[in-house]
Amino acid sequence: MKDTRPATVHGSRAEWRDETLVLHGDSAQGDSSSVVPPIYYSATFRATDAADFVEMASTPRHSTYYTRYGNPTHDRVAAIVAELEGTETALLTGSGMGAISTTALSLLKAGDHLIAQTRHYMATAKLFDELLPRLGVEVSLVEQSDADLIEASLRAETKLIMLETPANPTLVLTDLRRIASMARPRGILTVADNTFASPINQKPHALGIDIVVHSATKALGGHHDLMAGVICCSNALAERIWATHIILGSVLSPMDGWLLLRGVRTLSLRMARINDNALELAAWLERHPMVERVYYPGLSSHPQHDLATRQMTGFGPVIALAVRGGFEAASRFVASLSLAIQAVSLGGVHTLVVHTAAMWAGTMTESQMRDANIVPNLVRLAVGLEHIDDLKRDFDVALNAI
Ligand SMILES: *Cc1c(COP(=O)(O)O)cnc(C)c1O
Repeated sequence: MKDTRPATVHGSRAEWRDETLVLHGDSAQGDSSSVVPPIYYSATFRATDAADFVEMASTPRHSTYYTRYGNPTHDRVAAIVAELEGTETALLTGSGMGAISTTALSLLKAGDHLIAQTRHYMATAKLFDELLPRLGVEVSLVEQSDADLIEASLRAETKLIMLETPANPTLVLTDLRRIASMARPRGILTVADNTFASPINQKPHALGIDIVVHSATKALGGHHDLMAGVICCSNALAERIWATHIILGSVLSPMDGWLLLRGVRTLSLRMARINDNALELAAWLERHPMVERVYYPGLSSHPQHDLATRQMTGFGPVIALAVRGGFEAASRFVASLSLAIQAVSLGGVHTLVVHTAAMWAGTMTESQMRDANIVPNLVRLAVGLEHIDDLKRDFDVALNAI
């Protein structure tokens, strides 16, 4: 097929803003004249001759050899997300947990020490609490809001620091710049899960973090349809992680890679609306008589609001709120919402809501919940794209039904 792309582009990629990058950040990839790239729905790719086959089989991250190794559709998404995060490259996985576990398992071995946070996404916490210790990795879980405590936990054997900010359940932040600056000179790698913020609101690599991971199931995909993960880092680290990735096999399907590409095109637009909606709703909820407390990094009442304004440019979809009353009151509130859908996940087009304590009632004891700061009346909102007035009305009716 004829390549009809212009030979020169006005302005350099380095000058483009996020709104342009999501649309054109993949323009150097592929060879098609179609405006929308094709899906390479193929598990395997043809070699032209024997020498070509040798090259395909021996080149790391080859995009047309075998889809577990790489796929041209995925390369497009990876190019855009890497541009947004400011890293050399990105690697796609079949889920956010695929990105996180593949990264950890490729960079750690028995005897190494890992520092992680006391509060992480639940499956990530299980990786650090259960799976990595079983493989002989020593793990210290440190209160993430206290960078001094993290510094005091560093050891000669510390190889990796895993961070996630903002984090469940009360949107606690981690000071990315400070932790990167203590890790870099000691040769310790840092990883940040940037899912809650999205690359539109927070760019951990610019603050010195080595590897940025995402559950692309959330804001990057943005439509509550696909599952995917992304690992953003240098070419050298990506090659190292990829070598483990092809063993663990958390592979994204070409169809989901293509849907993710379509979702990413509107990321900056969606996040702008989500940021506006969530900030306005959080401020409104804080004034509502049936609300005891609101946790949102964009509010001046957030204990780390200063840090939030230093390391974030917008505050994302997730709001936690404690309603007046206990478990039953929170249950009634959630059940009385009609626009907000009772479902897990975040960062997509629809507003979702979960009663946090109910989510964990089957798997955690009450004392474990207390340790994790999960109070019975806590509710988590993931704000979507609805009109703010309609959202306020929905929440007002449900709060008054408590
Ligand atoms: C959802 C999520 C994950 C896990 O991602 P999946 O795509 O569900 O595997 C990891 N970290 C955070 C912060 C998440 O919200």
